[in-house]
Amino acid sequence: MNPIRIGIVGLGKIARDQHVPAIAATSGIELTAIASRNATLDGVRHFATLDELLAQAPEIDAVALCTPPQVRRAQAAAALAAGRHVLLEKPPGATVAELAPLIAAAEETGKTLFASWHSRFAPAVEPARAFLANRELRSVQIIWKEDVRVWHPGQRWIFEPGGLGVFDPGINALSILTRILPRPFFLTEAELAFPENRAAPIAAKLDFADTDGAPIHADFDFLQTGDQTWEIRVETGDGWLTLSSGGARLSFAGVAIVDEKPAEYPGLYAHFVDLIRRGASDVDLTPLVHVADAFMLGRRIVVAPFEE
Ligand code: NAP
Repeated sequence: MNPIRIGIVGLGKIARDQHVPAIAATSGIELTAIASRNATLDGVRHFATLDELLAQAPEIDAVALCTPPQVRRAQAAAALAAGRHVLLEKPPGATVAELAPLIAAAEETGKTLFASWHSRFAPAVEPARAFLANRELRSVQIIWKEDVRVWHPGQRWIFEPGGLGVFDPGINALSILTRILPRPFFLTEAELAFPENRAAPIAAKLDFADTDGAPIHADFDFLQTGDQTWEIRVETGDGWLTLSSGGARLSFAGVAIVDEKPAEYPGLYAHFVDLIRRGASDVDLTPLVHVADAFMLGRRIVVAPFEE
């Protein structure tokens, strides 16, 4: 079977750090083009824009959209209309409603639309889901704290409308939690802290309840210096299950169950290849809905200006 020929659109941090090496490490798919306004990659055909790629490279089967969320809907619509499979980086959109026409376009054209959640491919996630499937769930604490200056240098889009601010990493925690908990949950209260010079929050406190009433508290912070924390602690009837390092580690009552190097994107691309081969799509908007709910229900406070 011929490998799927894929083009990366937007050669920024995540494209270079994760997509390029993960494609190289995945059988059944090969990097054939880059669409970038500013950058090139040695040995890979370059286009300045996605439109040029779509017009001039009919052999490209799929595109991975690694651009900021504010510009991805138009790119995904153009790629699907041109008969290409589409991988969306997270979050899948700048609004929730923009996904419905994309899902419909994928169905009409018979192409794959994959709204990817990279954190769901972290090694501890499926073991945590299996562990929790038949346990009494008492409470959940999420602590997702990182330094925006370290992880998102120069990314002005992240504090623009649609950039999500601290929810850009925080939605990763929600993508894990919506995968591992046995029951749905919903927001009950939230407080979002907006720097006075920015359009997106720099910190957030969220309270949810699951459908049996178990409380879930999340603490997101974009100004964490020193140790960085990406942790979900689940209180079960038998003790605490802790998923840490963004999903690379899992322990129960202090005893390690999973302790691996973080590796998410090879599994993500293996899933994309499988979806394309099966003629299927995978679009779960639940984490984005929780974030939209936080912007809808959350109390807003104004905090000190943020400068890089
Ligand atoms: P980034 O470093 O700013 O890269 C985004 C790239 O998109 C830019 O380098 C640029 O590429 C292109 N771009 C920017 N503005 C554009 C515009 N207005 N129109 C068209 N293209 C534009 O951001 P990133 O960190 O890679 O994040 C991209 C997406 O990946 C985000 O949704 C983010 O949530 C997600 N993500 C990021 C990380 C991470 O750790 N950074 C992890 C997982 C997922 P060209 O100059 O090549 O055109």
